[in-house]
Amino acid sequence: MVYFIDVIIPVPLQKLFTYKISAAEAKFLKVGMRVAVPFGKSKIYTGIVYHIHNNAPVAYEAKDIQQILDDSSIVNDIQLQLWNWMASYYMCTLGDVMRAALPSAFILESETVITLNTVKTFDESILKDDEFLVFEALHHQSTLKIHDISNILDKKNVLPVIKRLIEKDAIIVEEEVYEKYIPKLVRYVKLHTHFSSEKELHNLLDELSRAPKQRDVIMTLFSISAKTKKPVKVSDLANESGASSSIIKALIDKGVLEEYHIQTDRVQYIGDETENSKLLNEAQKTALSEINESFKTHQVTLLHGVTSSGKTEVYVKLIEAVLEKGEQVLYLLPEIALTTQLVTRLQNYFGEQVSVFHSKYSAHERVEVWNHVLRNSAKAKIVLGARSSIFLPFNNLGLIIVDEEHEQSFKQFDPAPRYHARDTAVVFAHMHQAKTLLGSATPSLESYFNAQQGKYGLVEITTRFNDVLMPDIELVDIKEKLKKKRMKGHFSDRLIEEMTETLKEGHQVILFQNRRGFSPIVECKTCGHAPQCPNCDVSLTYHQYRNQLRCHYCGYHAAMLQDCEACGSQDLDNKGFGTEQIEEEVKVLFPDYKVARMDLDTTRGKYGYEKIITALEQQEIDVLVGTQMLTKGLDFRNVKLVGIMNADTMLNFPDFRAHERSFQLMLQVAGRAGRTEERGKVLIQTYNPHHNILQQVSTNNYIEMFNEQMNDRYNFKYPPVYKQIKVTLKHKDYNRVETASIWYAKSLRQVFKENILGPEAPPIARIRNQFHKNILVKIPKQQSLAKTKEAIIKINNSFLSVKDFRSVKVILNVDNF
Ligand code: ADP
Ligand code: ZN
Ligand code: ZN
Repeated sequence: MVYFIDVIIPVPLQKLFTYKISAAEAKFLKVGMRVAVPFGKSKIYTGIVYHIHNNAPVAYEAKDIQQILDDSSIVNDIQLQLWNWMASYYMCTLGDVMRAALPSAFILESETVITLNTVKTFDESILKDDEFLVFEALHHQSTLKIHDISNILDKKNVLPVIKRLIEKDAIIVEEEVYEKYIPKLVRYVKLHTHFSSEKELHNLLDELSRAPKQRDVIMTLFSISAKTKKPVKVSDLANESGASSSIIKALIDKGVLEEYHIQTDRVQYIGDETENSKLLNEAQKTALSEINESFKTHQVTLLHGVTSSGKTEVYVKLIEAVLEKGEQVLYLLPEIALTTQLVTRLQNYFGEQVSVFHSKYSAHERVEVWNHVLRNSAKAKIVLGARSSIFLPFNNLGLIIVDEEHEQSFKQFDPAPRYHARDTAVVFAHMHQAKTLLGSATPSLESYFNAQQGKYGLVEITTRFNDVLMPDIELVDIKEKLKKKRMKGHFSDRLIEEMTETLKEGHQVILFQNRRGFSPIVECKTCGHAPQCPNCDVSLTYHQYRNQLRCHYCGYHAAMLQDCEACGSQDLDNKGFGTEQIEEEVKVLFPDYKVARMDLDTTRGKYGYEKIITALEQQEIDVLVGTQMLTKGLDFRNVKLVGIMNADTMLNFPDFRAHERSFQLMLQVAGRAGRTEERGKVLIQTYNPHHNILQQVSTNNYIEMFNEQMNDRYNFKYPPVYKQIKVTLKHKDYNRVETASIWYAKSLRQVFKENILGPEAPPIARIRNQFHKNILVKIPKQQSLAKTKEAIIKINNSFLSVKDFRSVKVILNVDNF
């Protein structure tokens, strides 16, 4: 008897490759184990065993495998079932899915770069001889590739050695290592509540007349808090009063002053103490029982609850019930919303049962979570993660929560698999016979549509927790303000008034500007020329901080120009505006307050984002200017005013979802204002205050927005009414991509008639020196999606067989919105 295995390797091949194995190997191997296999002339890949059988391949002679890498499966049957679904639904290969699914430390291959793990002191005595040779070589040479290690050990099968070295924490594989972030604790003081009455205070000051230095400290404390209306830092108190830290300490020891930290609960979870979950209010209780009721008849339920309605606490109750049954929970969130705020909140309830899976975690941390989930260990009963955590090896999943389900970042645009994690979650949960809860204050049109059609259950919470009022939203007509000369830079008099008042009261302000950089475009006032990216068809953006022009598509940058490239004039003008310019203007308008900026440029690195959040929580920042990063489920107690600098750029974005997105963005940022007792205020500056979306935002009228947008979707055949697949063709030669796309569209039109749009050049027709053409396939509800894809694949194959087109890159993007 001869034995073979079909293996998935992490490269985009249409078919699986078959390898020969011995009878003994056939007995040992199981589907879902890793094997090292030779591929091509000299490459080695890690592959996943997909199928074990006795049929020799017809077209080629099967090679032997090199090595078995696991003693049990690391990928289970349901995962493979999901991989299959993804490859077929999103029109990609199993290799594409495998590469996205497995932590990189699992996919050793010839190109893998190996370095020493320098984070800990290492006990060399645990290494075997061959391991030690590699370990030592890395002390002389900072990185090694697999073939270097082959040379060092003088053998071919080195993956097992590398695998053991990784497991022993001696080496790491190709990645950045980020330091752990622990927010620094700022010490604050206040007068002990004992002295809050006039009388007690009087007695105290009398008593302290004999200790004038201590008395000074108290008086200074009063004056600082009267001036700033904010918590007083120990360091500020020491500076202003000139008192030494021992004097302040004496007052604390005496019980006159009380020392405290803001947000101490944000420190990483350490102990094994957990607290009980909160008692739900009536609205939450009703929602919870409606969700449970809905799950009896619907596998998916949408929870539409306004911002700050207490959705998270409802999730907590659902999670408790699932854990009770011994099942696992996956809690999906957009990457950027995965903050320590939420992690700590869940760890307070569930302790060590919570694991976090994040793309910025090290490979080692990710492998650890993977293994915990695989073994259904007590440490990973609840996985909190961004979109890629859908790939974890759950074996007993009871519930998936997709929070902020409307978020676009659940969709992966590049590379393949171009999947939507929310939709994939629904399918994955179904495979596990688990439930899916989608949650949002501003649901996506497609989810709400599904709920309306009865496909999903629908549960609503319309009031904020504690009956906090929804923020008061005011539209400011900047066209009018400009005419009446009531603008300073990009700030209307109304915005300045509200900011002045809010800051005076010691509250914080968030300003939203959906563009980073100083000003998007630099334009010559004499000849109108705007500097362009040499690699992309797009104008460069001016970044004041570095005095640079940058391309946001390819990263190209150059020094800011002194004069116009075209005519030499020095009269260059900034058109439009970005976060950096707003920050500058705030500094000038409010010189006494501290302003900071949150955008892609200021939040790089693992904790760049969290540092800004912590600073805002600790009230080190008075005004925060930011892009849409600000919208993500953050809970800031002291923010009372939100200003949206310009609503029009969002509304006018050339995309069929621009209006829906604008509505979601604005309501989400607005939701950051006034989350505690005091009602928040939101000012939206716009040239067009009568725009329907702005009216709907200001009255928080989701239904009206939904109905109106759905009308457009029906009329113009857009999702969720029609399905959509986008075909993108790319090539560095304009003429070639032009001819190719005309050929492609014509073939599609023969099958799909009027439901083909294009080819069309996208708004930015050239990126990284590649010209792009898009063709859109619109798919009516009654047309079979499977048959549609079959036809597209057939056309694609004949396309690829035309010699001239072979070098054109084709990207198929299913549900490309
Ligand atoms: P959402 O997720 O809907 O925006 P959250 O769950 O974050 O709302 O709740 C908003 C605030 O109200 C949070 O500070 C939360 O701790 C508090 N909260 C919500 N429900 C309760 C409850 N049942 N008891 C006490 N506090 C609650
Ligand atoms: Zn560019
Ligand atoms: Zn010019």
